Amino acid sequence: MNIGDGTRAVRAGLPDPVKYEPTLPGPVFAAHYHLPGEPTGPYTYGRDENPTWTHLERAISELEAPGEPVETVVFASGMAAISAVAFSQLRAGDAMVLPDDGYQALPLLRERLEAYGVTVRTAPTAADAQLRVLEGARLLWIETPSNPGLDVCDIRRLVKEAHAAGALVAVDNTLATPLGQRPLELGADFSVASDTKGMTGHGDILLGHVTSGNPELAAGVRRWRKVVGAIPGPMEAWLAHRSLATLQLRVDRQCAGALILARALEARADVDGLRYPGLPGDPSYRIASQQMRRFGSVVSFVLPDREWAERFLDGLRLVDDATSFGGVRSTAERRGRWGGDAVPEGFIRFSVGAEDPEDLVADVLRALDEAAS
Ligand SMILES: *Cc1c(COP(=O)(O)O)cnc(C)c1O
Repeated sequence: MNIGDGTRAVRAGLPDPVKYEPTLPGPVFAAHYHLPGEPTGPYTYGRDENPTWTHLERAISELEAPGEPVETVVFASGMAAISAVAFSQLRAGDAMVLPDDGYQALPLLRERLEAYGVTVRTAPTAADAQLRVLEGARLLWIETPSNPGLDVCDIRRLVKEAHAAGALVAVDNTLATPLGQRPLELGADFSVASDTKGMTGHGDILLGHVTSGNPELAAGVRRWRKVVGAIPGPMEAWLAHRSLATLQLRVDRQCAGALILARALEARADVDGLRYPGLPGDPSYRIASQQMRRFGSVVSFVLPDREWAERFLDGLRLVDDATSFGGVRSTAERRGRWGGDAVPEGFIRFSVGAEDPEDLVADVLRALDEAAS
């Protein structure tokens, strides 16, 4: 059936209706299931499978690749999902290519992989530079738009070259969400995300997922979850599924707000290095428009120095000074406070929530004016 994103989001993963049962069945809390006789699936032991995960996994699959026979495996966090792909696919002696400007825990992943004898090479996201270090790699890891720099690479092009070189491709789709970008349609082998961010959107749960159109690859990831036990709680999985119903509403509102904020910041002399992939003129705009359907909720920019940035963050009334992004309540932070990202001291990562854009812009412009004086 040809339906829109909003319709798909509200119905995604719902089981067939059963009289007297809720539309979305409640969380199933079970360490084990009643299992007389031969111990065969689908539900035997709680670390292996749970009906609440099954509903959520079907929902995410429908969003990641509508109408396609793909499989999703949900995890306790985004890092659990990322680790599952890397550690289920790589062996000692393999090589993996990572972005050097991606999520800040990727260097920790690198350290672990190297300790197990995997060679890791890095290159920037921009200008498809990872292609230059692809030779002989088994797995190419892409993060686009990259976090926090918001550079974009050409997924179709990287997939084509990687497959020709015998490498699998995984895309970290956290920032875009499946409504912003569908990596599997662009040829990737895995779409991976932290559902802690825009996917669930309320800043109250940690979760992650891996989706693949290749049943063998998906089975490897599922087996890894069983081995490591990085399983989501049923309550988190159910809350995530409930949250997906509003995904299109949230993402549309947040993307519209992000563009309005970016336009307002464009005019400011105290704002430098403004980035938003949906802003015509942004270095990411051309490729982003070819592969993204929505441009995300994150805007980044640079204020003159650290103290200036701190005054700005202190002055905001509608925006929490907090890390993470993609939530219905706007957040902003001075990214340099963590160390690890190669960003200037005054670099601000701003996540646009679902507030009225005119209220948000007024708050930001007032806080900027106060920070300047
Ligand atoms: C937050 C984030 C992760 C890690 O997800 P957790 O749910 O915190 O484990 C991975 N990739 C990106 C791009 C992220 O923003």
